[in-house]
Amino acid sequence: MAKIFWLSILIASICTASPDIALALNSNATDVHVNSAEDPGYKAAMLSNDAMKAIQTADWQKARNLLEEAEKFDPNGASCMVHTNLGLVLEHFKEFDQAGLHLQKALSISPNDKSALEDMGSYYQQTGDFKQAVVYFQKYLNLYPDAVDAATIQGLTDKLKKMKMADVDPSAKDYYADGTQGNFHRFSGVAPLKVYIAPGEGVPGFMPQYADFLKAALDAWTHASQVLSWQKVDDPKGADITCNWVAEMAKTNGASLVEAGRAESSAMGHEIKNSRIVICTVAVAGADVTDDTMKYVCMHEVGHGLGLIGHSPFPDDVMFYSERQTKSDGLSDRDKATMAKLYATDLGSNQHH
Ligand SMILES: [Zn+2]
Repeated sequence: MAKIFWLSILIASICTASPDIALALNSNATDVHVNSAEDPGYKAAMLSNDAMKAIQTADWQKARNLLEEAEKFDPNGASCMVHTNLGLVLEHFKEFDQAGLHLQKALSISPNDKSALEDMGSYYQQTGDFKQAVVYFQKYLNLYPDAVDAATIQGLTDKLKKMKMADVDPSAKDYYADGTQGNFHRFSGVAPLKVYIAPGEGVPGFMPQYADFLKAALDAWTHASQVLSWQKVDDPKGADITCNWVAEMAKTNGASLVEAGRAESSAMGHEIKNSRIVICTVAVAGADVTDDTMKYVCMHEVGHGLGLIGHSPFPDDVMFYSERQTKSDGLSDRDKATMAKLYATDLGSNQHH
């Protein structure tokens, strides 16, 4: 005799979309020893400080110009800091090879430098080399167990240790197994999804275009699914997906400081009943959110909300674990193929064939 029962589960995803901004501000605290205003290290340190102020106002080009000026005073007591910050700024410009070289240089000058170690870990995380990321984050934690972000970095390190990069096949056409974490969940797709997007007016940092980014993300992903469509509804009650804006992600549900967005879904069996997306309008440590960052975060969280509860191991996919390398804000071919595969999976089956 068959026994039938309903199983209701909560699936949740936590993302770390912009750790680089938080780390930029830490670089401010780098200790530099100089003797006088005539010291080249003093001049370089002043330029570097101005560069950090520029980063806090999201003026990355200005920061880059100042640091490239500061680099001309090499070598001096501020060289480690200058190269650390250059690495950070070049990561923002997606010039990852050059960024890596500057971080290496910083650590060759000062192997135990706090900011350089942390930024090197972040660099490897962003480029998908999680094993190396763990090495640098671990060294950071060993040397600076009392750092204000030690708990955040520890959490990040624990997650990175679980990523199985050895299994990654670079020619893979999708990341279905990682994206579904081996237990797929999706909407039935029978009727258009009813999506409630909360008005963002009054939420600090919210800009009207953010709602458009969210709509563009819903358009792109539902199209990629080849099954779904969506319509906007004015009442969160009865909506399949709700989207809310918050200024302080850190205070909701004990999330980490590096979180830029979150999506969680309730499912019955394999079928998602509803998803709740929360997007943070204020970047970590008070730095501005750029339109590019917001487009990316919306795209990433909507991907979670539609059923990709895991992450892609490939840095150029929207569903990559952290902010991805490429400048494009659209879905990659692998993102599209993964979503299509998810929605081609029979809801009555346990496995995709
Ligand atoms: Zn995520």
